[in-house]
Amino acid sequence: MNLKTLKNSNDSLNIIEIFSSVQGETSFSGLPTVFVRLAACNLRCTWCDTTYSFGKGTPWTIDNILNDVEKKGQQYVCVTGGEPLLQENVYPFLTSLCDRNLTVTLETGGSLPTSKVDPRVHVILDIKCPKSGMSDKNHWENIERLRSKDEVKFVIVDEEDYNYAKKICAKYNLFSKVKEILFSPVHNSLDPKELVSWILRDSLPVRLNLQIHKYIWDPLTKGV
Ligand code: SF4
Repeated sequence: MNLKTLKNSNDSLNIIEIFSSVQGETSFSGLPTVFVRLAACNLRCTWCDTTYSFGKGTPWTIDNILNDVEKKGQQYVCVTGGEPLLQENVYPFLTSLCDRNLTVTLETGGSLPTSKVDPRVHVILDIKCPKSGMSDKNHWENIERLRSKDEVKFVIVDEEDYNYAKKICAKYNLFSKVKEILFSPVHNSLDPKELVSWILRDSLPVRLNLQIHKYIWDPLTKGV
């Protein structure tokens, strides 16, 4: 599959799963949320915990997705992947969710432009650190588009990644730009205590981003 040209038929999106759970990350952590996981990803982060999203998924019409989301009955909707921006129909879909007065977050890996995302969406932008193996894929122009309600996430394996994240925050003045800067330790790889000790040592105004769903359920459980 050529990931640059993942095409949808007229009004559909390729879906891996749609489910209700509590949001495990970001400033929305703990809130009841419907997750819409879109298929395929153009990156291959070394620590990826959703490799099952790399496939082609199942085509759903946007109407059917909207009906399913509404049936699940939560105020918060998280559109995630894979890389959701690979599918052109994601843009009208995000707009349709916003038109229904839902609170919409978009989790993107940060390698594709966010320019066509509906301004009502809360963008959660990953900036990939060196140990992901994908830091050369960061689309830096996205930083200029960040608004005060958006969030930036760094997934951190070790102190080299931490120092990189710290440097990027300073270079682009992220502390005064976005709602939250999220520092997320790779589960079972970096002890959160160690990450906390670095954050405190440097008095960094960032939020420790634990994936709480991995503490509530088994870390390998899907659809939670
Ligand atoms: S961008 Fe997300 S889904 Fe894609 S490889 Fe990285 S962690 Fe996995």
